[in-house]
Amino acid sequence: MSATLQVTIQPTTKKRVFQNSPTSWMNDGTCRIYPPATFFPIDGKGVIAAQKICKGCPVASSCLEYALSENIEHGVWGGTSERERRRITKGRLNVA
Ligand code: SF4
Repeated sequence: MSATLQVTIQPTTKKRVFQNSPTSWMNDGTCRIYPPATFFPIDGKGVIAAQKICKGCPVASSCLEYALSENIEHGVWGGTSERERRRITKGRLNVA
């Protein structure tokens, strides 16, 4: 017997607001209408679901750079998984 896990993420109606903050770019993130837990998935399917939301986000590059500069290990940021960010960081360290 095989089981298939279906991940469905529903947007919320609440908007999170970050003003006068170095993270004010978050106001424009596509994720602002989704539950934060969406971006801290527990499995690969959750990562893919979060990355689909990040795709086309107007602040994805700011989000990614923030996660890299703050060494944020967990979650999907800027459309990247934890593993992808480790690779980016390692690549940048090798270039420097
Ligand atoms: S790239 Fe993803 S996590 Fe970052 S602000 Fe956009 S939607 Fe949110």
